[in-house]
Amino acid sequence: MSIDLALVRCRNVTRRYGSDATALHEASFEIRAGDRIAITGPSGSGKSTLLHLLAGLDEPSSGELSWPAIGELRTLRPGPVAVVFQGPSLLPPLSVLENTALPLVLLGKTDARAQQRARRALAVLDLEELAEKLPDELSGGQAQRVAIARALVAEPRLILADEPTSQLDRENGQHVIDVLLAAASATGAALVVATHDLAIAEQLDECWSMSDGIISTEWRVAPW
Ligand code: ADP
Repeated sequence: MSIDLALVRCRNVTRRYGSDATALHEASFEIRAGDRIAITGPSGSGKSTLLHLLAGLDEPSSGELSWPAIGELRTLRPGPVAVVFQGPSLLPPLSVLENTALPLVLLGKTDARAQQRARRALAVLDLEELAEKLPDELSGGQAQRVAIARALVAEPRLILADEPTSQLDRENGQHVIDVLLAAASATGAALVVATHDLAIAEQLDECWSMSDGIISTEWRVAPW
């Protein structure tokens, strides 16, 4: 029996919008446990399109996209793939603690168990003191860190982050990257971060550069 470790496999994947915009062109690659990949490229080069496809939130126009080590993704349910979007994504009526616990509640954990794990995830991001606050009482940086705690709470195997530091100052941005890297190392998850910031890209193990929907590998850290 062969064991297929690819978390994501992309074969000649193209995503077109309408007849003219090709946001992703013939992409072929695999992402495996422990991979730490930065995706760079100017605005409009296809980074968000790629992340949405990898998360199962969008479908290729042509080509094959699969998650061999995960099986079928159940879109819009928390599970092995977590996404940190840019901008606000917390549910306004829920407290920070409830927002963070939500993936576990949706997975069927009791409120008490979910909130216990949510408090731990908040502590990792120095957010325990905000647990009872509502999203509109938070700064942009705090809200982004809560969104990351929520993404990590169910210990995903693939973490996708779309410009997770774009609304943060350098210190908070670095903290977020430190947390994502530590979470990925602790669980062996793969981490994919779209970023404009080369100082952040350099902290991952490989960097894919996108231009007009075409991916090229800029560099890869030698595995020794
Ligand atoms: P990036 O994340 O690098 O800024 P995107 O993936 O958002 O790039 O966009 C890639 C290309 O696809 C751009 O030309 C953009 O205008 C186009 N695009 C993205 N989303 C849509 C959409 N929903 N409808 C039409 N065109 C889109």
